[in-house]
Amino acid sequence: MTRSELPSADLDRVADLWGARTPHSKGSVWPARQDLRLEDGLQIDDVDHWVGSACVLCSNGCGCDIAVKDGRMVGVRGRVDDPVNHGRLGPKGLYGSTPWASSPDRLTRPMVRVAGRLVETDWETAMGRVVEVSRRLLEEKGPLSHGFYTSGQLFLEEYYALAVLGKAGLGTPHMDGNTRLCTATAAVAMKESFGSDGQPGSYTDIDSCDAIFLYGHNMAETQTVLWSRVLDRIEGEDPPIVVCVDPRRTPVAEAAERTGGVHLAPYPGTNLALLNGLQRELLQNGWIDEEWVAAHALGLEELRKVVDPYTPEKVAQICGVEADRVRRAAEVFGTTRDVLSTVLQGFYQSHQATAASVAVNNLHLLRGMIGRPGAGVLQMNGQPTAQNNRECGADGDLPAFRNWGNPEHVQQLATLWNVEVQQIPHWAPPTHAMQLFRYAEQGSIGFLWISATNPAVSMPESARIRKVLGGEQCFVVVQDLFLTETAQLADVVLPAAGWGEKTGTFTNVNRTVHLSDQAVAPPGEARSDLEIFQLYAREMGLTDKDGEPLLQWDGPEEVFEAWKECTRGRPCDYTGLTYQRLREGGIPWPASEQHPEGTDRLYTDHVFPTHTEQCETYGHDLATGGGVTEQEHRAIGANGRAFLKGSPYVPAHERPSPEFPLLYSTGRTVYQFHTRTKTGRARSLQQAAPDPWVELSAPDAERLGISEGDVVRVESPRGAIEVRARVGFVREGTVFAPFHYGSWDRDALSTTRQANELTMTVWDPVSKQPCFKTAACRVIRVRAGDGPSTAPTTAASRPVGALSPTRGGAATTSVTVPTPTYRLDPAGRAR
Ligand code: SF4
Repeated sequence: MTRSELPSADLDRVADLWGARTPHSKGSVWPARQDLRLEDGLQIDDVDHWVGSACVLCSNGCGCDIAVKDGRMVGVRGRVDDPVNHGRLGPKGLYGSTPWASSPDRLTRPMVRVAGRLVETDWETAMGRVVEVSRRLLEEKGPLSHGFYTSGQLFLEEYYALAVLGKAGLGTPHMDGNTRLCTATAAVAMKESFGSDGQPGSYTDIDSCDAIFLYGHNMAETQTVLWSRVLDRIEGEDPPIVVCVDPRRTPVAEAAERTGGVHLAPYPGTNLALLNGLQRELLQNGWIDEEWVAAHALGLEELRKVVDPYTPEKVAQICGVEADRVRRAAEVFGTTRDVLSTVLQGFYQSHQATAASVAVNNLHLLRGMIGRPGAGVLQMNGQPTAQNNRECGADGDLPAFRNWGNPEHVQQLATLWNVEVQQIPHWAPPTHAMQLFRYAEQGSIGFLWISATNPAVSMPESARIRKVLGGEQCFVVVQDLFLTETAQLADVVLPAAGWGEKTGTFTNVNRTVHLSDQAVAPPGEARSDLEIFQLYAREMGLTDKDGEPLLQWDGPEEVFEAWKECTRGRPCDYTGLTYQRLREGGIPWPASEQHPEGTDRLYTDHVFPTHTEQCETYGHDLATGGGVTEQEHRAIGANGRAFLKGSPYVPAHERPSPEFPLLYSTGRTVYQFHTRTKTGRARSLQQAAPDPWVELSAPDAERLGISEGDVVRVESPRGAIEVRARVGFVREGTVFAPFHYGSWDRDALSTTRQANELTMTVWDPVSKQPCFKTAACRVIRVRAGDGPSTAPTTAASRPVGALSPTRGGAATTSVTVPTPTYRLDPAGRAR
């Protein structure tokens, strides 16, 4: 492919989500293509300088450079030498990376609540109030009075500082992140199967697989650049077969039909029944590697018993999927040489999330299909730095995948941090977010610090969360870029620096670590989250047992160096990395003396970190969440073998009834990220998806007398929203709503359009991830709309009827460039 074969300028990437194709055949290196966007009117020569980073608008972690002009961030370009994206960027990265930074509504000064209103103040006053409340509660009630709820969007150094502050400084087990809503199941599924968190597969598996199974993962919208990589394989020689498990007819589902695969659209809440059926088919047809399983896995006979009742006909009856489609999907998995599986929220945000996700791992283990190119499992993340939250322990786990139930692991941290071992909470499992908010509701947590996340919009059952945050029973501190819906309810608001305004590292789904250097100064008095945590620790006088300051680091690089020591010898070993090396591009961990270049995929030796002394968890019963004890784990004697674990399907908590006859699911659109803090301030993206909507199937719409664009009221037992209807391609009997929309860009505080008004406070028993996919609801037509819904016409939200296409993104450029050698790419090395 030469430069001239691709359009190079004025590309509307709102209309063209994945850009031009650069087909490649099985086993070849994905060709490079460089995408770029500068503010309107600017040319390359206008840019003062470029600063290395990676995109933080999804979990893909595309390497990029930030364009700086006159002290402002004015655009981005993909890094051609980056192993993640080979130069590409998607619509969110191109349009959404920089405009928010100069938005006039940035927080620039701290705020405190006075007589019910938030008023601006100085840092001394704001932090003084935080410290005063914190000290009083510690004195009166001890560390269990404190809770920390963070994000999937801080930097590694900030999570690590927060983890040390909370565990070694205060001694509270009440720490979690919004990663509980997005990626908790990914971590737990890997722990249950392989003994530890840590992504087994690699993005390079896309380049050499023969089939790709996407389970509850609309990659085409949630990770557009990764989907480009899949599309380029589909358009090349030896294309992979795609199998899609999703109740919506997504672009992934269409690709499944195009490639001779199959689209399975199970009724929401029935994923586990389907997966049990697929496992049974493998076992019944002998599509397993008995020798490999005997040598490298445990639990085959128990699994056989669990899945045996799930015949294709039984699966068809439970899931509403044709039995022959189940057979076909199993045949593809069972008879294809190299299969890549990816899993995301369609599985994770469900009531049997861990069991269903572990079943995906089981399929790979049954075929011995792990640890070689093309045969990977990617238990995906939703957010750019969710992986670091999990690694560092800001989600309550112990840092570097240590086991809170293993005294030796706890002692290692006590030694590293120079604190008494009793100071580190390890007497019980860490508190998960759903429980943390319950404690804040009751008031046993009287001090809740929320950083870089917006639970007033993103947590389930919004009315309840607003009450928790706005009540007198709990003092709430929020640090963020903007006065979000959550910040509006806080007692103290601290202005934070964002991406490009501070330095730090982060790790994507693929275990690839990127360094993001500071490109510009933060606005006004905003400070990095690391500086804010350090200020609090200093003001609180948090010290180690020698009286030395606990967070004594001078800047993020020193934190990174400390973190490296914390990871030494652990599965996520960072000791071979330095800021200097990372400036050359992303490197996947483990990166140590043994693996100086990093590691493309794990478990190439088929030895898993399941030794009792090594594992991150002793495991759980997948049906109940009941824990396995250390003695029980030792007695099992896994010793490097993976676990095959199964569980029977049970119905979801809430099912359709005569009163609420439909099933309501929430999810994402390609143009927005999270609660639109950044993407909602990017004109191209906001215009593409300006308002919320609900998607109905054509048969349901007709039955309810609803036409495209009508205003409808959607009600569940917990609340209601009024939005416009999109008559589209959701499964009949179901309703889909994007979860991004709160009230910050409305004139008045409006809560009638927020998807989570309807969702419920229930969670998966093992990963504790809340369910967003199965709330019963009803839909009532309110009035005719003044035209079609403003929902996007692209991707999974496209309408049944013909409508003007969504377009209007500002000009971007895209050029093919020579493909460099990617050091760890198996295809590149083979050439
Ligand atoms: S795929 Fe994700 S990381 Fe890559 S440019 Fe798009 S939003 Fe950013």
